[in-house]
Amino acid sequence: MRTTITTSYKTAAEHISNGQIVAFPTETVYGLGANAFDGAAVKKIFTAKGRPSDNPLIVHVADIGQIASVVSSMPRYAEKLIEEFFPGPLTLVLPKNKKISSLVTAGLTSVGIRIPNHLIAKKFLKECSVPVAAPSANISGSPSPTTWQAVKSDLNGRIPCILKGNPSQIGVESTVVDCTGNTPVILRAGGVTLEQLRKIIPSTRLQKRQQTISKSPGVKYRHYSPMAYVFIVSNMTETVPLKSSAYIGLHNNEKNQFGLKKICRTEAEYARSLFHFFRECDKKDIETIYCESVSEDGIGLAIMDRIRKASYQ
Ligand code: AMP
Ligand code: MG
Repeated sequence: MRTTITTSYKTAAEHISNGQIVAFPTETVYGLGANAFDGAAVKKIFTAKGRPSDNPLIVHVADIGQIASVVSSMPRYAEKLIEEFFPGPLTLVLPKNKKISSLVTAGLTSVGIRIPNHLIAKKFLKECSVPVAAPSANISGSPSPTTWQAVKSDLNGRIPCILKGNPSQIGVESTVVDCTGNTPVILRAGGVTLEQLRKIIPSTRLQKRQQTISKSPGVKYRHYSPMAYVFIVSNMTETVPLKSSAYIGLHNNEKNQFGLKKICRTEAEYARSLFHFFRECDKKDIETIYCESVSEDGIGLAIMDRIRKASYQ
């Protein structure tokens, strides 16, 4: 299959109308989308990515008006979260509307929904005029793509179209919040922090890992992994500086020579750079990547989640 790489959101939307799949930019990571009402189109996403069929997809819409075609009901606290955080890096899990293909939700009765805060994504989604189911646009298990080049390196020849945009500004996926119970429960940490959510709904809590797996089966898989071994370190002296090893973190030690090194000024920069860094390491045949641990507040919670998942062997 030939992969068209385009800057035209109209060309990309035509693919969706024709039952095809398209990669598109968002502020979190690049997504791989299909018409969420069209089971045959959605199936192509799972095939292209090699994604297990029990891992549900997030449905993306252009505006609040489209939410009613995706979900069947919503508690008052979810309305408040939408008012505060949509558009943005937040996915709400709500009871699904029957028009949404059950392939999208991996057979669950709930559906994840999000409005990206990204100009091209919003223009593209508006032009599609249907909700677009989209997981990250990478081969299943590899680091999520934060650039169109990363999408190309994973999916060239496997998908018909890539909508080109700038590198993703947030760089980690959305926060997934279960809104099917009495209070919001975070299933996956991401771009919107626990602290931000608690300011609006103070009862918001984190789900424990085992319970998360039953609610959100996809999280049990090995994720976000480069080819290299990933180690989490709290201190530079725990590292073995070699040409074949790499380091990403907030602190620098001039003495340590690595094959590749990324010193981030802030946690936000760390989150934005992480998946791109993993991919750069793979290109350079790095064998070991040391990731500095950060405190699990703010975006630090999502960084630690991603580097832990990347470090499971
Ligand atoms: P990805 O976009 O590749 O990061 O994958 C989407 C993730 O969203 C899944 O792995 C789940 O964790 C979550 N998700 C999507 N829909 C649901 C749902 N209906 N219930 C629970 N979690 C969901
Ligand atoms: Mg993914």
